[in-house]
Amino acid sequence: MIRFYDLGLSDPGLRAELDAAWARVADSGWMILGPELEAFEAEFAAFCGAGHAVGVGNGLDALVLALRAAGVGPGDEVIVPSHTFAATWLAAAAVGARPAPVEVDPKTYTLDPAGAAAAVTARTKAIVPVSLYGHPADMDPLMALAAKHGLFVLEDAAQSHGATYRGRRTGGLAHATAFSFYPTKTLGALGDGGCVTTDDPALAERLRSLRNYGSSEKYRHEVAGVNSRLDELQAAFLRVRLARLDVQIGQRRALAADYGRALAGAPDLTLPYAAKWADPAYHLYVVRSPRRDALQAGLKAAGVETLIHYPIPCHLQGAFADLGFRKGDFPLAERLAEEVLSLPFWPGMDEADAAVVAKAIREAA
Ligand SMILES: *Cc1c(COP(=O)(O)O)cnc(C)c1O
Repeated sequence: MIRFYDLGLSDPGLRAELDAAWARVADSGWMILGPELEAFEAEFAAFCGAGHAVGVGNGLDALVLALRAAGVGPGDEVIVPSHTFAATWLAAAAVGARPAPVEVDPKTYTLDPAGAAAAVTARTKAIVPVSLYGHPADMDPLMALAAKHGLFVLEDAAQSHGATYRGRRTGGLAHATAFSFYPTKTLGALGDGGCVTTDDPALAERLRSLRNYGSSEKYRHEVAGVNSRLDELQAAFLRVRLARLDVQIGQRRALAADYGRALAGAPDLTLPYAAKWADPAYHLYVVRSPRRDALQAGLKAAGVETLIHYPIPCHLQGAFADLGFRKGDFPLAERLAEEVLSLPFWPGMDEADAAVVAKAIREAA
């Protein structure tokens, strides 16, 4: 049996460091908005090459609060990719704005800049490109488009910690970037967590207030904020994991190369693509097959666990029924939902396991 993912928590070295992190927080007696969060925010901002990082409760809140901090609200349109995790669209809806979907580039599966340019209207306020599966979005033309129309660009980098675009890491490419630290993400906590990075000090200040009841001074509330904070324990765990992240991203890239070699030439199979300006972090290893369901069943029978990211396109989800989209509106997103398959993938998975998966794929084909 080859599982889809392994959190790596059985590693004794990692366990000892996590135990020490827990002991440090327990000894301090300080659980919320304290020194661990401050240290993690500084370390993660440095990792991303961003001026500021603001820890929040989860990735969805990172997106929602960043849009709120930028003044996006009712009546506004937010350009989003047609193919993404629902949270990208939910964030736009949560602030009362309308998600305005644009099809993705068929190779990188990230927001197509030409499509985004064509989708700008008088109501457009923001663009939320998603660096899906660990491949960065094509940011330069999107930032140029935003500059031309005065739009806010929030990168959804929940799947692309450590990915680089023209040599620069996600987190420092847009006006603001939202990250998730859900346990299975490329940088994962041991529970929920998220963060927004930005170079804009005023935006960072608004985010610090919004995550903490809209308050920057105790019992004084300037805006109607929420309670969405990255707690001390998760921040301490994340510091341990962040110190290992570069090594783990290297392992992800090596494993992607192993899969690439083992699957080269497999019939009817499209392997992940890396644009020449991108160095993906391989959050997931996603292949495409026109006979995806049969392939997944064959792999299951061979003891190989796979997942589908994502089986229902956002425009056909009940949550977005009020937007009035129908089947056929975003053909590429619909096709991807039928064809994508995520193979077992985690840092430390060995080449022999990848070879077993590849063999099972060739036999199931
Ligand atoms: C995981 C994810 C989110 C949401 O993050 P949570 O921490 O689970 O709320 C948002 N966008 C994308 C693309 C994601 O993969």
